[in-house]
Amino acid sequence: MSRSPSLPDRPRRDIDPDMPDDERLEALRDHFEQILTVHDQLTEQLETAQERRRSLQEQLDRTKRENAALKSSSLYIATVEDVIDDEVVVKQHGNNQEVLTDVSPQLLDRLEAGDRVAVNDSFGIQQILDAETDARAQSMEIEESPAVGYEDIGGIDEQVREVREAVEQPLAQPELFEEVGIDPPSGVLLYGPPGTGKTMLAKAVANQTDATFIKMAGSELVRKFIGEGSRLVRDLFEMAREREPAIIFIDEIDAIAAKRTESKTSGDAEVQRTMMQLLSEMDGFEPRGEVRIIAATNRFDMLDSAILRPGRFDRLIEVPEPDGDGRQQIFRIHTRGMSVGDDVDFEALAEETEGYSGAEVESVATEAGMFAIRDDRTDIRMVDFENAIEKIEDDGSDVISSAGYFYQ
Ligand code: ATP
Repeated sequence: MSRSPSLPDRPRRDIDPDMPDDERLEALRDHFEQILTVHDQLTEQLETAQERRRSLQEQLDRTKRENAALKSSSLYIATVEDVIDDEVVVKQHGNNQEVLTDVSPQLLDRLEAGDRVAVNDSFGIQQILDAETDARAQSMEIEESPAVGYEDIGGIDEQVREVREAVEQPLAQPELFEEVGIDPPSGVLLYGPPGTGKTMLAKAVANQTDATFIKMAGSELVRKFIGEGSRLVRDLFEMAREREPAIIFIDEIDAIAAKRTESKTSGDAEVQRTMMQLLSEMDGFEPRGEVRIIAATNRFDMLDSAILRPGRFDRLIEVPEPDGDGRQQIFRIHTRGMSVGDDVDFEALAEETEGYSGAEVESVATEAGMFAIRDDRTDIRMVDFENAIEKIEDDGSDVISSAGYFYQ
């Protein structure tokens, strides 16, 4: 760093008061000259200092900008594979590239093989990440024996029966399968339009078998944690094994198991890796173990046939929109705890709600309750249901006309 130049000495002059006037004048002139010279030197020094200040300020501004850019730039996720003296081997998630990189002494003391770290473009470790329980917790919904029973599901009795046979029985009576000598279905795929009770079905099985329900959405898997999808799939199965008996429910499986396309973007590669991990987890799966897998999709048409092969999702169950009887049952289920007037005709309501999903029938019931409250009543009458249907048709006719869903 350059040091500031020393200041010139301050000019001093002792003038004898008894000096003759002309000599005193001469001495004062001399002194004035000296003062002027020092003034010039100081002015020059001041200008140099100001110039330097300006250049330092510029440097500071530039560094601030660079710092902000560094802070805001994306970092990649990697895992520490090995620590060798003051260097570590890291493996970047996603492309599995392994690199030997230097680490600052402060970080080195805290690093161990297996740690997750954030690295910059040149693989410099910027941050040690928390244990992945964080990432797991964010992306999975975990419920110990969820509070949904088969009696809460209406209109899809055949599907309930099939799911019980394919998922519940292997968990509840594994010896049956052993005796007969067959493996139960590895994975069950529920497909059909949204809001028809697929998630409810999976939860009800978990409840019935006292299993932990672990839900993960396919879209979250590939969207939220770029480079981490396959790792999260591994975690998902690991977590299920830790909490046996468990039901793994993968919603929107089409997001990770769509048919392969020609495009080769990095996003597609990520989806591919996530799907390969899912397939390899399923292939290495103990068919009679205490972890069962259920997946769901509204886009059956988009699925890659690789996931439908035997030993993978080999039991396909279509969960359709409820028919008239089904809607009637669902109305009864969702009004169980409500004070419903004697004039309410569920059969007529079921007829009026042709094409509604279970979720939409549920919102009619809730909305009818709101109409009763608005009218200062505690009983819900037929007119409230009719108003509710009208309101829902007006609000979201595009939602109701579910004919456009692709689930064939
Ligand atoms: P998505 O494909 O959008 O995930 P889903 O088929 O998994 O939908 P659910 O989440 O199970 O649908 O249903 C949403 C809500 O709709 C449920 O919480 C429930 O209240 C109601 N519902 C849907 N189907 C039924 C049904 N068959 N019986 C009773 N209620 C139902």
